[in-house]
Amino acid sequence: MAALIASRLAKTIWDEFKVKPSSVTLWTDAQIVLHWLRTESINMKPFVGVRVAEIQGTWSPEHWRYVPTHLNPADDISRGIATADINGRWMHGPSFLKEDKDIWPTEPSQTVKVDTECKTVKYICVVQKKEPVVDAERFSSWQRLLRVTSYCFRFIHNIRRRSQDRLDGPLHSSEVEEARLYWIKEAQQYMDDWKTRLLDLNHFVTSDIIRVGGRLKKSQLPYESVHPILLPSDHHILKLIMRDFHAKSCHAGTERTLCDSRREFWILRGRQIAKNIVSKCTMCRKLRQPPHSTLMGDLPSDRLRPFEPPFSVTGVDLFGRFFLKYGKNQSKKAWGAIFTCATSRAVHLEIVDNLSTEAFLQALRRFFISSWMATHHHLRQRNVIYWSTKRAEGFGQ
Ligand SMILES: [Zn+2]
Repeated sequence: MAALIASRLAKTIWDEFKVKPSSVTLWTDAQIVLHWLRTESINMKPFVGVRVAEIQGTWSPEHWRYVPTHLNPADDISRGIATADINGRWMHGPSFLKEDKDIWPTEPSQTVKVDTECKTVKYICVVQKKEPVVDAERFSSWQRLLRVTSYCFRFIHNIRRRSQDRLDGPLHSSEVEEARLYWIKEAQQYMDDWKTRLLDLNHFVTSDIIRVGGRLKKSQLPYESVHPILLPSDHHILKLIMRDFHAKSCHAGTERTLCDSRREFWILRGRQIAKNIVSKCTMCRKLRQPPHSTLMGDLPSDRLRPFEPPFSVTGVDLFGRFFLKYGKNQSKKAWGAIFTCATSRAVHLEIVDNLSTEAFLQALRRFFISSWMATHHHLRQRNVIYWSTKRAEGFGQ
């Protein structure tokens, strides 16, 4: 308040002077006031801030100087002085004013440490997450994501350049590679603790990309295979990459998909991701779907005679051909006749020399001779029953 009154009084006197003084000096013995006058008023509490703003609007901080309390004549009234001393500095001012400015009292170098009138500053940090150029979650194909990202980068490139320097036409391989590296770096941002984890992979950083060190440095394999790119397991592009390798391997199994992916990438928990991709692949489900079983019809009555002798109802078919060896170096063609019991599924084999009727009838006779218990002989060849029971019995006799 004293500084404000002094400021207003000095302003009034200044306005009344027709001949303006060359300089104005305002004195105060309060260092805190000098500190306030050098501080922006907006940072102070309202009561002090409003008054400091008024003073600063009239007099700059350079007009203010410090006077020690024992040299301040304004304190003579508040503290009281002897009557004899009234005619002293109270009436004529302090004696140092008559001296040169260089020997005027100066402000101590001690600074104000605690200022209760300043506002408490509350720092608010706003963390803005850097959003990717496109939302990868909306894509189901790695190649499509790379193309769309490349076109976005091309658009950004073109709007910053003149028309003659702009890119057009089909995508260049360098543009697709730029998009690929962009997504790899984007995924690796999720690996905050990669320096302390996975130390056995001996990973390292080159061109801002984390790669696996491994033990294949002396190998003749390509650099991408020797030092595959390390990728986390919780980013959407990992699924896209694994799905892309799965499709390129013609929908191979889990191990083959994982092996192909490790030629370029070392994906954490890659086997589980590959297994998940293969299990959910629509094409694989179609290819590996087991055939549907058809509903079989009722068995014929001839096959349902459990209390009759074997070969009571018999079926016959030919199989072959194969070669029979006789002599030293001679062989001849032969076929097999298989007689099977319709009830017990017992079989009887005979050799047939050729495909003529006579050769088959001879085999049939041999079967009848060795199996006289047969009563009904359904002769079946190539799914056509052509031999009647009576005729078969006749041949058997
Ligand atoms: Zn598949």
